[in-house]
Amino acid sequence: MQTYEELLDAVVATDGDTVTILAPATEQPIGDAPWHDEAELEAAIARAQAAQPAWAALSSAERADYLNRAADAIEAAAEPLAQLLAREVGKPLGGANARFEVGASANWLRATAAQEVPVETLVDDGETYAELHYRPIGVVGAITPWNWPMMIATWQIAPSLRVGNTVVIKPSEYTPFSGLALAAVINQVLPEGVLNVVVGDGELGAAMTANPAFGKIMFTGSTATGTKIIESSAANITRLTMELGGNDAGIVLADADPQQVAGDIFWGAFLNTGQTCAALKRLYVHDDIYDQVVDAIAQVAKSAPMGDSLDEDSLLGPVQNKRQWKIVDTLVKLAVESGARVVVGGNPDPDATGYFYPATIVADIDPENALVVEEQFGPALPIVRYSDIEDALRWANALDVGLGASVWGSDRAEALKVAERMEAGTVWINKHGAVHPFIPFGGTKRSGYGMEFGVEGLKAVSVPQVING
Ligand code: NAD
Repeated sequence: MQTYEELLDAVVATDGDTVTILAPATEQPIGDAPWHDEAELEAAIARAQAAQPAWAALSSAERADYLNRAADAIEAAAEPLAQLLAREVGKPLGGANARFEVGASANWLRATAAQEVPVETLVDDGETYAELHYRPIGVVGAITPWNWPMMIATWQIAPSLRVGNTVVIKPSEYTPFSGLALAAVINQVLPEGVLNVVVGDGELGAAMTANPAFGKIMFTGSTATGTKIIESSAANITRLTMELGGNDAGIVLADADPQQVAGDIFWGAFLNTGQTCAALKRLYVHDDIYDQVVDAIAQVAKSAPMGDSLDEDSLLGPVQNKRQWKIVDTLVKLAVESGARVVVGGNPDPDATGYFYPATIVADIDPENALVVEEQFGPALPIVRYSDIEDALRWANALDVGLGASVWGSDRAEALKVAERMEAGTVWINKHGAVHPFIPFGGTKRSGYGMEFGVEGLKAVSVPQVING
């Protein structure tokens, strides 16, 4: 799979039901992906079940070796994978986009290979001896969204395989090629049946989550879908990791340097053109520096090139699908109608080809406005003015989601005091959205439960077992 064409050939459907996938930047077809039914899901489960005992019987070092070789395979096919990802998601090749995502997927496999869950001695007092082990669960079902389809698939696949599970993964119906291509490349090195892909929409996803064959479902997607999955998996007591929607707040303190923070705030909000679960989605800025911060962020927005995903100069791309584009457009329009000020962006060209929406900064907006309190998941950032930190904290914590949050300021001790009061699974100081394979990540409130990454992430795809005696 040395070229994009060879990679695409390996994943397009040649028979059976298919779905045509369009490139969001051009609205032109990329190719026909397979479309699987429940019989094909059952066949994938059977392959995963058949492969699991031998996979679990390998030593930890042998499985780590497979993960490292999977990373090698991704690196060998990096450019074709990035070309496919760029076309299908619309994210540009350069910047923290398609090539970055492919490289990060390989790095994550290696980092996961380098970690393991140690056996813990719980009690050793001369009378009682007890140890805590973590065993493989069996077959893990993985369900991914469309925004970081290779990265998030890797986050689900790598820890699951590391500890001895096999996997059936269902990519989003918007980006099936990204999931299929990643698996095709990894499967060049994995034993048959260890990693399996099925393609379909929520109906097939629902069939997965109700299926007792899965001991664990790793889900990343919206809160609405997450609640359905919790309900449908209840009868089987399936273990769940729920990485759900967010609406991350950032608070800029009065002592922040507007010029210094503007670039990192912009890219914290517009990473992947704003289509990132833990992107900064609403910013609260102290009155003393409000105008300077708004202007400085607007300057960065104006200079960030948006364009075709295959254009090497682009750093921002289209919204991945029309449904999401309409959500962003509607929320920005509502903000404008309410009297908020569009500093830069807004007004998408109705005749443009592709689902492009300009990078949009909205100032002088009410903290209760829908653009602030709803997850718009696109290239828009509302900036709210505050003068009392208690107001900023109250607004930041008022929502029923809590994935990430950030505090920006020159005095770390002051920033830390505010960070400790923010209700989110991760609070960053002077950055937003940074993830690391050794640092656990997960949400609070309706952003979900369970942690990914690091040893916590490996435990989450294992079943604990106490040996007492
Ligand atoms: P979505 O919930 O619509 O779809 C996600 C996946 O779930 C898709 O594969 C879809 O086919 C499947 N699905 C849909 N209905 C299902 C059902 N009833 N049962 C089982 N599976 C079903 O989400 P999306 O629009 O693809 O992604 C955007 C959302 O994902 C945003 O809310 C974003 O915040 C969230 N997200 C969260 C994280 C995180 O780590 N917390 C990361 C990325 C995205």
